[in-house]
Amino acid sequence: MGRVLVVEDEPAIAELIALNLRHQGFEVAVAADAEGAQAQVDRVLPDLVLLDWMLPGTSGVQLARRWRADPRTREVPLIMLTARAAESDKIAGLDAGADDYLTKPFSPAELQARIRAVLRRRAPSALDLPVEVGALRLDPASRRVTHGGTVELKVGPTEFRLLHVLMSQPERVHSRAQLLNRVWGDHVFIEERTVDVHVKRLREALAPAAAQGMVETVRGAGYRLVAKPVADAGGGAA
Ligand code: CA
Repeated sequence: MGRVLVVEDEPAIAELIALNLRHQGFEVAVAADAEGAQAQVDRVLPDLVLLDWMLPGTSGVQLARRWRADPRTREVPLIMLTARAAESDKIAGLDAGADDYLTKPFSPAELQARIRAVLRRRAPSALDLPVEVGALRLDPASRRVTHGGTVELKVGPTEFRLLHVLMSQPERVHSRAQLLNRVWGDHVFIEERTVDVHVKRLREALAPAAAQGMVETVRGAGYRLVAKPVADAGGGAA
């Protein structure tokens, strides 16, 4: 499951949210202010941030604006938490780049539903749901990749995560930098060339089902996974 950062200065609320999310299988980090949140994000990019509006010092909205202006954090899914229910505040939160907005008090069920909705839209691989593209099926819970319902493919752990990210957003072109963020957890010391090595291994793992062409190279842009590869489409074969 994905990693969620909870930025909330009221310890009781932060603890309640963290407990609830951990219970659902999420990995949870907590920060009590903008500086703590920035330190967490600098260390590892979360799959989703729950960001309280009213924080001591830098506010949640200011932090959201800062993150949206930074290429590294621009795409992190963000849900604002607030005690303010005014329409103008909601608009300000969404203007600052939030994907959604939750007014306190909210129920655990509502929080869960919003998180899942945002992740489905923005980072589906952070949810442990089986994904299917064409004849290929990947099940994160059992860690299995099958083709045509019968052929089980042997896929290494890194290639599995790579395939999960690609299958979660089929047809979409992922740059090497985006794949590094999603698959390797944003460790800046890994070279982009590493992505190419693992794409090659992934194609080799898919070859027994003749599915290696599903991972397409998009020249100058990155990689994408397609349901039906076009024969001999630039670099499709292993
Ligand atoms: Ca607060």
